[in-house]
Amino acid sequence: MHRIAPDDRCLTIVIAAFNEAEALPALQPRIAKALSLAEAEGLEARVLYVDDGSRDATWDILRGFAANDPRVALLRLSRNFGKEAALTAGLDRVERGAAFILDADGQDPPELLPQFVEKWREGFDDVHGTRVEREGEGWLKRATAHGFYRLIGSLSKTPVPRDTGDFRLLSPRALAALRQLRERHRFMKGLFGWVGFNQVAIPYQREARVAGRSKFNFWALWNFALEGITSFSTAPLRMATYIGIATALVAFGYGSWIILKALLWGDPVAGWPTMMSVILFLGGVQLVALGLIGEYLGRLYEESKQRPLYFVDSWRPASGVSSGQV
Ligand code: UDP
Ligand code: MG
Repeated sequence: MHRIAPDDRCLTIVIAAFNEAEALPALQPRIAKALSLAEAEGLEARVLYVDDGSRDATWDILRGFAANDPRVALLRLSRNFGKEAALTAGLDRVERGAAFILDADGQDPPELLPQFVEKWREGFDDVHGTRVEREGEGWLKRATAHGFYRLIGSLSKTPVPRDTGDFRLLSPRALAALRQLRERHRFMKGLFGWVGFNQVAIPYQREARVAGRSKFNFWALWNFALEGITSFSTAPLRMATYIGIATALVAFGYGSWIILKALLWGDPVAGWPTMMSVILFLGGVQLVALGLIGEYLGRLYEESKQRPLYFVDSWRPASGVSSGQV
């Protein structure tokens, strides 16, 4: 008789939630349905909610879910560590089987689970949802997101699929590989790609948030973009070098011209404007280059501290399973 390995029989939905008290009650029934769909396919299905240090009623609501459904596991972090760390914490607790990651705000439809599982069954390790449309998000967010994916795509050496967030299913081996990457500056979209294995995209419509507000304002997104670029590319450093070389060449040419001019026609004291503009320009270029080096140095500093990625305040495995298993 053909026996399915235990790793291929389990699936855990991992959801990071930060102040999602308004959105969660609408999400849980959809999750419960998705779990039932997975069970119908012969999977042992669980959901793991990670409360990323929420300050509203999120944790109480989650505890209510767990009391009503033995398939619900809960993890609460000691404070708000950010989505990337919260997801890492969740994935760390998935000891068996695949993980299916989605947002707590209903923007990633759990109804698509069977499609993702089907691709996993076909042998894919990283099945990611690619947005064909983003509803409920302004043109500015869409345009900057669009630009960002193209920029990072051209800068990074490892592929970062376009218009793809964290909505994805990871096979057990992709998950095991991802867990070995313990860097502190975690640009998850890049890490997923870096791990490799068989990847496939599933196009989907990104719906509007069911309730509550986005946790990422423009400043947060700008920092996120910087994080992504500096974690996955040293191209800006090289660019600084090229700008430096180009400036030096121009300065050399201009210097030669001044010397020649002085030799031919003498040196009446003039040229304050040129001197000022050259000094200002060079100063600016130097400061930019220094700042860039600082960005990378700062990240190196953070990594060198080797701090844990998160701390756990509370952990409740799903009651449907034994021995601390999700
Ligand atoms: N999130 C989190 N920790 C944070 C910020 C956000 O766990 O510090 C979660 C949030 O609860 C949601 C997901 O990350 O499940 C995506 O957040 P959001 O919907 O605000 O981002 P957007 O969809 O607007 O990019
Ligand atoms: Mg959202």
